[in-house]
Amino acid sequence: MSAQGSPMSASTVIVHAEPLRRFVQTIVERGGSLPREAGLVAHNLVEANLTGHDSHGVGMLPRYIDNLLAGGLKANQHLKVVTDHGSLLTLDGLAGYGQVMGVEAMQLGIERARAHGVAVLGLANSHHIGRIGAWAEQCLDAGLVSIHFVNVISEPIVAPFGGSDGRFVTNPMCVGIPMGAGADPVVLDFATSRIAMGKVRVAYNKGQPVLPGTLIDADGQPSNDPGTMFREPHGALLPFGEHKGYGLAVACEILAGALTGGITLHQKPNPNAIINNMLSFVVDPERLGTAARLAAEARAFADWVKASPPAPGQDAGQRVMLPGDPERAVRRQRLAEGIPIDATTWAQLLQAGTRQGMTEAELLAIAQPH
Ligand code: NAD
Repeated sequence: MSAQGSPMSASTVIVHAEPLRRFVQTIVERGGSLPREAGLVAHNLVEANLTGHDSHGVGMLPRYIDNLLAGGLKANQHLKVVTDHGSLLTLDGLAGYGQVMGVEAMQLGIERARAHGVAVLGLANSHHIGRIGAWAEQCLDAGLVSIHFVNVISEPIVAPFGGSDGRFVTNPMCVGIPMGAGADPVVLDFATSRIAMGKVRVAYNKGQPVLPGTLIDADGQPSNDPGTMFREPHGALLPFGEHKGYGLAVACEILAGALTGGITLHQKPNPNAIINNMLSFVVDPERLGTAARLAAEARAFADWVKASPPAPGQDAGQRVMLPGDPERAVRRQRLAEGIPIDATTWAQLLQAGTRQGMTEAELLAIAQPH
């Protein structure tokens, strides 16, 4: 499933990015976070909505509040450096907000990649780090290539190739490649399941089925009902690309969950936390001496690949895109028109605010939905 503007139903509310940021920031601050932390969480979640990834946007906030109140997510933590060998670092996220840990880890990675040409970062034990593309974009803003492998310690919901129940989570990977000054970068960023779990939640909240080949039910039978993931006994998501996507998920699990000093999923996780571990490689093309070559070759290839005529049945105006293009298009649209939020997610967001002691009138005055 690609990033796209969500179809609107009568009950969808539209909220503009800036008031939505203030809305999230206020609720996170009510949870005890200092303003910088609340601002980072709000910025990151709203950016995910802006790029069309509602699965990792403000809809995550109610789960964060649940985890915070239950003690699985800790407010006001900072990255702890566990080992530091210059270009090799292991880091502990201390179950703090992933939006803080991601920013702080990438700041270190950028600094070390500039100093040494490359940085290898093992970030373990962070609470949910959201849309992984955000971390590639932070490196891209500094002109750096980055590669990220992530595992998730939460209820296992993705079945292995050839298996019939959940044994790991949606283990995303991401690659960011700068294409030279003035050119849009490549941002490849996806879950290794057919779709991200948050997209199953979005479909469930909208009462829509998912595409065939996405889910199996609790008996291991194919299903397109997202409800199978929300009723006991649970079904499971399938990996994308049969054994290949499954293999990539295994690589994410072990690289992110073990090489970093973190953990892999092989026992009952804490139900009150979503823990991410991430192995990141950050590379400075200037230090490698190939920055000019990278820009010239990558742009020539981009032009070449985009010149492929549309596939039969494809809209004639629909050009070939590069990874990162769909998100940029949705971002432009949503910045101008606002972010659509389905009725169920909106009700859950209001409830998250009222649980933090705010009135619905106060929340509506901040968000100004229409
Ligand atoms: P997706 O299926 O929408 O794929 C997105 C990727 O495919 C992007 O790189 C996009 O640019 C590219 N793409 C999409 N359509 C394209 C087209 N027509 N041509 C060229 N490229 C195209 O993403 P997803 O698997 O649903 O993942 C959504 C988000 O969820 C990601 O940001 C991911 O990092 C995040 N995620 C996070 C966690 C976590 O634990 N933190 C877990 C899973 C997923």
